Amino acid sequence: MTTRCELCDLELEQCIHGLAEAKRKAKLKVLVQVSPNNVAHLEGCAHKGEDEDFAKWGEITGEGAWIHLCQTMPLNGGVTSDLITNSGAVIGLQVFHVCKDCRDS
Ligand SMILES: [Zn+2]
Ligand SMILES: [Zn+2]
Repeated sequence: MTTRCELCDLELEQCIHGLAEAKRKAKLKVLVQVSPNNVAHLEGCAHKGEDEDFAKWGEITGEGAWIHLCQTMPLNGGVTSDLITNSGAVIGLQVFHVCKDCRDS
């Protein structure tokens, strides 16, 4: 069964509206990983060179966590986010920066 777009009447998997919506939904559910030096990354960040393993990393789960961080944290960081890690190896880790590469992706 396919769903048609209300805006352009194409199938949702084929139109830009459906793709944008899928991307938005994917970002809602994405896992946020916080490094030991308080930088938030998206799961699978390509430049995870800060630390070899995740023993000191924490995770923030919950819908919209990444979007919330991107909206509330300035590009240059320096602000303490109201979100802290609630999963992963380190619970209660704060976020001072959002990884710029992850933010752009
Ligand atoms: Zn459409
Ligand atoms: Zn990153």
